[in-house]
Amino acid sequence: MSLGIGTSLAYLAAAVLFIFGIRILRSPMTARAGNLIAAVGMLVACVATLLEFKGDVYTLLLIAGVVVAGSVVGGVMATRVPMTSMPQFVAAFNGVGGGAAALISFSELYKLSQLPLPEQNFVILLSILFGILIGGVSFSGSAVAFSKLEEIAFEGSVTFPIQKVVNALMFLVAVAAGVNVLIGGPMPVASAAVVLGVSLLLGVLLVIPIGGADMPIVISLLNAFTGLAAAASGFSLGNTVLIIAGALVGASGTILTYLMSAALGRPLSKILFGAVAAAGQKEAEAHDKPVTSGDPENVGSMLANEADSVIFIPGYGLAVAQAQSAMADLMRTLEGQGKDVKFAIHPVAGRMPGHMNVLLAEARVPASKLVDLDDINDQFAETDAVIIVGANDVVNPTAREDGDSPIAGMPILNADHARRVVFVKRSLSPGFAGIDNPLFYDQDRTTMLFSDAKDGLEGVTQAVKNQG
Ligand code: NDP
Repeated sequence: MSLGIGTSLAYLAAAVLFIFGIRILRSPMTARAGNLIAAVGMLVACVATLLEFKGDVYTLLLIAGVVVAGSVVGGVMATRVPMTSMPQFVAAFNGVGGGAAALISFSELYKLSQLPLPEQNFVILLSILFGILIGGVSFSGSAVAFSKLEEIAFEGSVTFPIQKVVNALMFLVAVAAGVNVLIGGPMPVASAAVVLGVSLLLGVLLVIPIGGADMPIVISLLNAFTGLAAAASGFSLGNTVLIIAGALVGASGTILTYLMSAALGRPLSKILFGAVAAAGQKEAEAHDKPVTSGDPENVGSMLANEADSVIFIPGYGLAVAQAQSAMADLMRTLEGQGKDVKFAIHPVAGRMPGHMNVLLAEARVPASKLVDLDDINDQFAETDAVIIVGANDVVNPTAREDGDSPIAGMPILNADHARRVVFVKRSLSPGFAGIDNPLFYDQDRTTMLFSDAKDGLEGVTQAVKNQG
């Protein structure tokens, strides 16, 4: 497709806006502006594409209708989604993108298959098949990720015998069907339908065994897949801005996936195939062991009288209970009594990257008090008290001690090195990864304050004040 000069310039402007937008997403101070700039880039690209459109009015109305419907649904969902549900929201939108890319590729293949063989371009056919395969995997894989995160289906690690063999066979079927299309074999559309069907099954099979702590990495990987599928459909449509946007998403998603798996010490091969290898081995243990439980008064008294240094470790439950202001109040109360207070931030605490930073910023906790895992881990051994609020996986020593654990190798916050540990949570239930935490049962060190995070923290603050 040859583009008019105006459209080419508009696409160039859109690409610059995308790149600049992504660049300034790096800092929380400029992230909103970055998002807006990239969205303006997308608007420019869409308008330029529509102006270039040469079809009939009926098709144009159809496109307009779909754009309006999609915008309304997306807008309403985006404004209503709670922050704790952000990963499933991202998974859902990502999956829709992958599915759209797969369908566009499929329809391009249908069009191309109507042409005589010599007029069919091998590279375009290859990119079409790639778009179908990757887009299909991204669609169904994201749907499974959504179901897992929303706790609708496929919870934990779902495995069955010879899962790897089944996956490999499915992949070979997809490759065989794809090769048939490429060499001009019989029934190209039916072969492409086989690629699509297999890709949908593969997406399900690849994601069902992945459990717990690895979900953020998988969502990022599926995001990269959607970008690559979109770039592939850009090739088949001859649309440069789609190629650029897809390549940006593919590249940034791949880099993010690599950085997250490196930060969590979870190689991608272990995430994708590890659970299958360990099929059937993992289940949360029953927790009928004794624990030391306490009430806000015990904890308040311990903090007021025995602790000069305190580290808070916030997690998902802080977000559920919306207890960030209660945590900030306790911080101020303790500081008012001359204690040193810090916050240890794990990279995957909560349910989205940066979740805890956003919550604590909302409660006006100074950013200088938030310390990353690498910088704080050596300080726990010299800390008097650690208050773990609604967090579990990110402090689970099993990650260090049990090589077969689903979170093996994930760096954790060394809360168990502190002199005293307090968990504020409602029960002994495990966290997202579904595994028990031995730190609950360290009766000499750990006190369990069974409570909703907000109520518990408010009670402790009052108790500390009463001691002051
Ligand atoms: P966890 O999921 O390990 O634990 C959260 C704990 O919060 C639960 O054990 C629960 O215990 C407690 N909780 C829930 N509601 C409340 C409440 N109202 N008051 C007090 N406590 C409550 O959270 P972590 O933050 O430690 O770890 C995050 C996990 O989520 C990791 O496994 C991570 O990989 C995964 N994840 C992270 C994403 C990210 O990008 N950050 C995205 C997707 C998954 P109880 O029921 O007993 O109260």
